[in-house]
Order: sequence, then C-alpha cells, then structure tokens
Amino acid sequence: MALFDKITPPDGDKITFEQDRIKVPDHPIIPFIEGDGIGPDIWKATQPVLDSAVAKAYGGKKKIIWFQVHAGLTALQLYGNDDVLPEDTLNAIREYLVALKGPLTTPVGGFQYVCLVCAAEQDGPDGKRPDKCVKCGSEWVTPRFRSLNVGLRQKLDLYACVRPVRWFEGVPCPVKEPQRLNVIIYRENTEDVYSGIEFEQGKEETQKVIQYLTKEMGKLIRPDSGIGIKPISITGSKRLVRKAIQYAVDHHRSSVTLVHKGNIMKFTEGAFRDWGYELAKEEFRDHIITEKELWDEHDGKMPSGKILVKDRIADQMFQQVLLRPDEYDVVALPNLNGDYISDACAAQVGGLGLAPGANLGDQIALFEATHGTAPKYTGQDKVNPSSVILSGTLMLEHLGWHEAADMVVKAIEKTIQQKRVTYDLERQMAGATKLKCSEYGQAIIENM
Ligand code: NAP
Repeated sequence: MALFDKITPPDGDKITFEQDRIKVPDHPIIPFIEGDGIGPDIWKATQPVLDSAVAKAYGGKKKIIWFQVHAGLTALQLYGNDDVLPEDTLNAIREYLVALKGPLTTPVGGFQYVCLVCAAEQDGPDGKRPDKCVKCGSEWVTPRFRSLNVGLRQKLDLYACVRPVRWFEGVPCPVKEPQRLNVIIYRENTEDVYSGIEFEQGKEETQKVIQYLTKEMGKLIRPDSGIGIKPISITGSKRLVRKAIQYAVDHHRSSVTLVHKGNIMKFTEGAFRDWGYELAKEEFRDHIITEKELWDEHDGKMPSGKILVKDRIADQMFQQVLLRPDEYDVVALPNLNGDYISDACAAQVGGLGLAPGANLGDQIALFEATHGTAPKYTGQDKVNPSSVILSGTLMLEHLGWHEAADMVVKAIEKTIQQKRVTYDLERQMAGATKLKCSEYGQAIIENM
C-alpha cells in the first residue's frame, strides 16, 4: 500500500537509524511544515538561510531536499474533511525521521470552532459551523481540535522537549550579565499534569473519585474540589534523563541538573530525581559523578572529564538561574517545571522570539518554532524568523552538519550586532535598522 495519499516525496535519500544513531546521506529528504499565520513568511526567510549555509559549508556536496507536508490550514485546504493533522504528515515524519515545523494554530477557549487564518475562536449560529470567520471573514473555519503540537508529540512519541537558551550579543534583555546563562533544557513532554486526566468540580465522576479517595484511601479532600492527576513514571523519567545525559556526554557539557519539587511531591517529583540519579549511575557510570560523591569522595574537587549530576528544588532553581547562571549547563525536568523554566530563562536573555526548540523521540526529531502564529502579522513579511532559523541550526547539528550550523549562528550574531533587525528588536535597540522578515534572512546570508 502506498505510504502517502496526497503528497509525493521529492528525489533524495532517506535518513536511517543504525546502531542507536541516525545515518545521514548527503542529500537527505527532510519534511517541513510551513505553519499557520506568520509561518509562510518565516519559512520563505528560513529556507534560503539554511540552504546557503549548507551549500557554503560543504561546497555543494551536501544539500537538504525539502519535502512539504501539511498540518493546520494547508492540511485543511489540501485534505478537507476537517483533517488538520493528516496521516500523510505523520507517515512522512516517521519515514524520514527528521523534520522542521513552523507555528500552528491551537484553540484554547471553550468555543466550538476555530479559524485557521486568524486563530479567532467562535461558536456558529444555532451551534452550526459558521460559513465565514466572524473576525476575518475567511472560509477556513474548522471544528475545535486538540492542540496540533500536542497531537504531533503524542502520535510520534516525542517525549523530550529540548530548548537551548543563550544570549545573542546586542539583544536587549532585563539582566546585567546575560552572557552568563547558556543552558540546554530537557523537559519531559508526555506526562505530569499535562496527561490531561482531570475531573471537573461538581460532576458525578468527580464525586466518585473524591469518595474513593476519602472513604477507601483515607485522604482528606474537600467535596467541592476539582481533581487533576499527576502521573510521573519510571519509564518517562528515565528515558528523558537518559537523553539529557547522552547529550551532555556527546557535547562535552559539564553538568546535568535534575530539577524537581520533591520536598513536597515525594512520589512524583521526588521519584523523578531518584530515578534520574539511578539511571545516571546505571548507564553512565564512567562519565558522571554525583554531587554527593563529589563532596564525600573528592572533597569538592571536580575530577577532570566527568559530568556532574546534581539536583535542585524547582523554586530555588528560579533563583539560581538569575543569581548563579553559569553553574548550570544541561537541565532535566518534569513537564510543568520544564514549561515554566524554559520561558523564564528565555525571557532572561531577551525573550521568546529568538528561542529555538526541538521535540525528540527515540528515533524521530521534530524541530520547531517556540512562538505562536502571531496572526495579526500574517502576510506582512514583518516578523522575526530567528526562532525557526535557530531551530534549523539545531536540526543541522542533529544531522552532524556542525559547520553549517555554526555558520548560521555566527551570521545571526553578526547581523544583530550590526543592528540590522526585525521590528521586535528594532523597537528596543537605539540606532537600529528595521528590516522585513525576508530582508533579515538575506542579511544573515550576506554575513555568512
Ligand atoms: P504568538 O503567536 O506567539 O504571538 C504573541 C506575540 O508575540 C505577537 O503578537 C508578537 O508580539 C510576538 N511574536 C510572536 N512571534 C513573533 C515573531 N516571530 N517575531 C516577532 N514577534 C513575535 O502568541 P498568541 O498570539 O498567543 O498565539 C497565536 C496562535 O498561536 C494561537 O492559536 C496559539 O495557540 C498558537 N501557538 C502556537 C505555538 C506553536 O505552534 N508552537 C506556540 C504558541 C502559540 P507583538 O505584537 O508585541 O509584536
């Protein structure tokens, strides 16, 4: 049976997975999802930057063969039937193992329909689907669906959300020494309070849960409570910590910090910490030393070539990244802590606009923008494409194409130092030149 229904892969070669590693041909096929809202503008700026870097770094020997796949608005346009995340797209990512995506509309309110052009959420007349969006008049109004980002993560089992956070010289930010923060955050992506197991206050099933916990388990819960479940498993914790430590080993990083609220939530967050240490000692014994071993056996003097595995309570970690940021390197956290600390760290170095991201599974890697679709700027060639471009550099590093990745990062640094930036940075930088999204992409290429 054909793998794809409405899309055809271009000529190129497949990335394969052999002996626990991806094997990358010189002309790998890489699926991309342009994204909704500002996605197409950003993609037009991003693709030439990545292609130019690869061409320059390898003298034309290597080339990415891009394969457009669909989610969100373009999926609805091509597939109809309210199919915003088609099987074709999931199959393409499963088949080619590495993909890049722009932002996608995610409904948040309690409305029945969402417009994929302007992200407005709405109810239809008499509960029926509106013919046109009440806000922008587009015809691309579709029934409310669960987050496409969550859908992609769950269906492809992308359990680690990875966010490197560092400062780019010249970017305005709220702290005095932003260069001291350079962390890579590994956030568990599939469990914790994000498991979606919730019971609404007042519902019959909620009363049953409360009664069971009160009567059978002897736990005191107010009868007028809503209930949320926070599962944290050995499987979920260990595979996340394994990825974080493996990254630290592969990239010669100095420490891995497990961040948790184990003093309060002993059997979930505390267990995450314990399983993390267990995994570190079981699988990376030759590479790591724990903080306890450092003090008990080495008098606090770090043996050379080892990675320090330590843990911090979550609230203290928020102080640490502000007060002693250079003591942290790779950071591994359960889902909710990870969500909070990623944005806090990104804000510390000048905001989310420049933050790249990746979602990783055992074999599949999906690189993505961390911002949303900013629908009010759709089609204006205005916004900052750095988040997707930098996600592209993470992707290049994942392919082992480090020379091309470095070239892009250095060119972005140079472009920002020249104060040639998009509106979001220009409004905060004295004497800066405001560039369009596409012009900024071209400036990066000039600076390679
Ligand atoms: P948003 O799209 O991130 O936009 C919020 C504001 O952030 C924008 O108005 C703009 O600020 C700034 N911004 C975002 N991207 C920018 C860029 N590339 N360059 C410069 N500035 C940028 O958040 P939202 O308006 O809350 O969400 C819109 C839609 O995106 C929703 O459907 C949401 O669920 C979805 N979303 C998707 C993802 C994802 O796909 N990963 C992530 C978050 C949200 P100014 O107006 O101040 O210039």
